[in-house]
This record gives sequence, structure tokens and C-alpha cells, in this order.
Amino acid sequence: MSRFISKRFAQMVPYRLGEQPKNMEFIKLNSNETLIPPSEGVYESLQKAADHADLGHYSDQDATVLREAIATHYGVATDEVFAGNGADEVLSFIMLAYGMTPEGLCFPDITYGFYKTVSGAFGLNYREIPLDENFRIRAADYERAGQLIIIANPNAPTGLQLSQKEIRRIIESNRDHVVVIDEAYVDFGTRSCIPLIHEYDNLIVVHTMSKSRNIAAIHVGYAIGQAALMRELNNLKNCFNPNNINQVTLDAAVAAMQDFETLERSVLEKIKIRIWFTRQLERMGYETLDSFTNFVFTRHEGYDAQELTEFLYEEGILVRHYDQPRIRDFVRISIGTAGEMEKVTESLLKFRESIRTAKRASM
Ligand SMILES: *Cc1c(COP(=O)(O)O)cnc(C)c1O
Repeated sequence: MSRFISKRFAQMVPYRLGEQPKNMEFIKLNSNETLIPPSEGVYESLQKAADHADLGHYSDQDATVLREAIATHYGVATDEVFAGNGADEVLSFIMLAYGMTPEGLCFPDITYGFYKTVSGAFGLNYREIPLDENFRIRAADYERAGQLIIIANPNAPTGLQLSQKEIRRIIESNRDHVVVIDEAYVDFGTRSCIPLIHEYDNLIVVHTMSKSRNIAAIHVGYAIGQAALMRELNNLKNCFNPNNINQVTLDAAVAAMQDFETLERSVLEKIKIRIWFTRQLERMGYETLDSFTNFVFTRHEGYDAQELTEFLYEEGILVRHYDQPRIRDFVRISIGTAGEMEKVTESLLKFRESIRTAKRASM
């Protein structure tokens, strides 16, 4: 830190995505991305931009066409949508708008790490609520929380989901605070809370196009909630970075949003591969939490997850290990293509063999 840094930021601990090494070809299964291509329309839109984009004018700061496409897809009004440069940016605006209060905000102790990094950097008063002994979010712990609540549903990195009934309990007992449901993985089979926004003026649902729509590189996320809240987020955004989404990205995101078929097809493909891979893990004796996402969170009795992660690294496979209490013995493995998951399975068999050899040697 230089001596010039604002005091508020002196303690910041920036969020790190899964490692992205450049020195060799890895099978990259540590950030829940995919090699499965997005909608053909996304490429057409990028091609059109390459051919004759108007690059001299600013993008539409209201992202109107994209917000209309999102609104149409979910059957909400355009002014019930706010769009951002990734769900992370949307979440940041929400946390600043509704969490910069004396009571602050709360989220689970084991969840998407970004909530904590934003809170830390901006000095938000945050409280981490422990998951139960089965790594589940206990709705009762959030009743009358008295602060902004952020819950990822399904949660990451556990992959587990809350029922809509439980979420309603949380929203209804916190009518004076905003409840954010981060549905980054909802397209993989969880019931969305979007229809509830017309019942509750304190609900914001956040989505990303990085996971199920296969355009992490383009990076668009959005929030859906009542118009008053969306207007506030938009105003805050306009104080910060009015042209937060560039025009090339806006156009590509519209194409992705309008192609429901590609979304469905690639979600089903990933679920099929996840089920296949989970069965391979089971055969090798792994215990895997019930995933409702495009990743699995798994552990094996007697295996050191850090050692397993390093072994896979040497095999050219990147997975995520969290050196954090309670989940230290798990690894999170994103669901890649069928070919990638076959290679992972082979490497896991090799790891098992290496453990057995080491055991025999020590007997
Ligand atoms: C990936 C992820 C995000 C971020 O999405 P971006 O649109 O890529 O910024 C937000 N929340 C959760 C739970 C995620 O897993």
C-alpha cells in the first residue's frame, strides 16, 4: 500500500477468480465457466460489430434494448430490470445502495466470496451466518435479521438450494430490509424467485449470463425487482459509470438473451454430464453434495483435498480448493465438456492409485 491510499481501502482483500495460468493448456474447471459455445446469435452480433460498428458514440446508458429483452424473457416490465457489467457489478451497486447503513448486511459464512470482498473494501458492516451441519442455509437464522440479506440460491460453493417456501419466510420477516437472492445458477434447475417481485417490494433477484448462457467473457448480469429499487440502482450507477456496459456487449447480450433454445440445450447437456460425472465420483468413493448447478462440491474420506488439487494441477486440470474451516476437505469441480470430465475421471483414478501405492509402501 502506498501512503496515499484512502484509509477506508487500506484493508481491502481483492477477490480472486480461480487461477488462469498462461504457461500451458489446462482443463479449466475452477471458475464454473465452459467451453460449450453460446448462442450463434452472439457470434453474429460480434461479427457485425467487427464489420461496421459505430464505435465513436457512447453506448445507450439505459441499456434499453437489453433490458427489454430481459423483461420479455421473464414477463416483467422493462423498468423492473437493471443491467450491469456482470452480476458482480450489479451486486456491488446493491450492496452500496442498501448495505451502507449502521446495521449493514448479512450472508452465509460459506458462500460466494465476493460478498465479503465488497463489504471489506467499502467498510460495510457485515455479519456471516453459519451454514448448518449439513452445509445448508437455515431460513430461521435470517428471520428478522434487521439488515440487508444476500443469499445465493443455489448457494456456492456447496451447490445446495433453498425452497421457495423458506425464501418467502426470509423475505416476509424482513419487510423493512432488502433481501437479495443471487440466482447465478438458477437455470440449472432451481425455481426462480423472479415471480415474487410483484408480491414483495423488498426483493431483488440477481442473475448472470456468465454461467448458463456461456458468455463469461462478455460479462453481463442483471437485477430484477420493483421499479423503485431498479431506479435507485440505475441512479447510483449513473453517478459512478453511466456507460457501464459497452455497445458491443449490449448487442451480444441481447442475442444471448433471445435464444432460449441454446440456453435450454446447453443447460441440459451440462446437467447430463454432471450426473454422469457424479456417478463416477460415487464409484470412486467420493461424497458429493447434491448439486443444482454446473459444478460439484465433493470430498473423499482420507484424502487431503489440497494434495488432490495439486495432483490434478500436475495433470493439467484446475479445480478449486478453499483453505477455509469446515470445507477444507472438499474440492469444487466445474462441469466442463464430456471429454474434459472423462479426463478428470482418469486423473482421479490415477490419484487413487497413487494413494494406494503410497499406503502399501508405508505398510
Ligand atoms: C459467478 C457468480 C457471480 C458473478 O457473475 P458475473 O456476472 O460473472 O459477475 C455472482 N454470484 C455468484 C453466486 C456466482 O457464482
